[in-house]
Amino acid sequence: MNQRAYNFSAGPSMLPVEVLEEAAKQMLNYRGCGESVMEMSHRSKAFKEILQGARENLKQLLNIPSNYQVLFLQGGATLQFSMIPLNLMGKNGKADYVVTGSWAKKAAKEAEKYGDINIVASSEEDNFTYIPRLKAEDFRKDADYVHITYNNTIYGTHYAQPPETGDIPLVADMSSCLLSEEIDVSRFGLIYAGAQKNIGPAGMTIVIIREDLIGKAKKDSPVYLDYQVHADNDSSYNTPPCYSIYMAGEVFKHLLDRGGVSAMAQRNRQKADLLYDFIDQSGLFNCPVDRESRSQMNVVFVTGDEDLDKKFVEKAKEQAMHNLNGHRSIGGMRASIYNAMPLEGVKKLIEMMKEFEGENQ
Ligand code: PMP
Repeated sequence: MNQRAYNFSAGPSMLPVEVLEEAAKQMLNYRGCGESVMEMSHRSKAFKEILQGARENLKQLLNIPSNYQVLFLQGGATLQFSMIPLNLMGKNGKADYVVTGSWAKKAAKEAEKYGDINIVASSEEDNFTYIPRLKAEDFRKDADYVHITYNNTIYGTHYAQPPETGDIPLVADMSSCLLSEEIDVSRFGLIYAGAQKNIGPAGMTIVIIREDLIGKAKKDSPVYLDYQVHADNDSSYNTPPCYSIYMAGEVFKHLLDRGGVSAMAQRNRQKADLLYDFIDQSGLFNCPVDRESRSQMNVVFVTGDEDLDKKFVEKAKEQAMHNLNGHRSIGGMRASIYNAMPLEGVKKLIEMMKEFEGENQ
């Protein structure tokens, strides 16, 4: 294959081609310093500037208020499933979780090791095809935090807006939607996201945490799992994921140059609307997700016939449209159309769907 494919993978996923080209240019000798970023000491001036630049640009992109810290950590979103209860459940030992998919379920299960976890609502009985609507009264008044998965990568659902939780800090897993839309960070106590979707290569996890929630880790927590340790050490208590931080920083610059998150949100809406509109009028393809709960990042669809679904995924691959299979736990199809997926990729997919429909009805 001598052309780049349209990669619809849920993550790791496409990165902006301009960012990859710039990284390739800088690969052997970063800005004339004689070293690759991969070879650079994490204590060097050059790397410190990369890290600080990435953090400042992220703050600008998301309008992060000054009473929040941005941390660049390792361990993926999965390690946050443990770090969050270890750090935030110190007061009453209680937390409320909303279960809207497998990742939310895994987060709740992990938290159960550390305290009293209440599942406030779950959409599992309907195969996670919708986001439950919740009011502030639905949460326990003495919960230390409420945890939600803002975008459910596997099921293609997304909160239309964050639930009202009153004074209880709201914690959100935004792994598959951070930087795809405008958010009001002040509505959240903590936001976290693995990098490998809208941000950069895998290996780095972003945590945006309100300062009053730092410094409360359980006394016997492993040192790496204490947010205070990372906040006090500029995300460099130990060797940070240097290259992933560098690449994320390049993506942040790229987004700022192209109008920031609001411009991305507009493009993402356009891409998702095109695809959902096509599916909704199709006689072959169907999207099982409740309209109000649909994700603009992960578009899930089926034909209703497993063999036909497989044939579709194979045919798409032959036409350089990769990874359109649904998650291995649910099958069907899923088109992940993160920031870096061009509009042309979505148009090409729709053309192929039309053709496939004509051949298979
Ligand atoms: N949460 C969500 C919403 C995800 O999509 C994923 C991974 N796809 C995870 C958590 C787990 O992330 P990681 O692999 O970075 O641990």
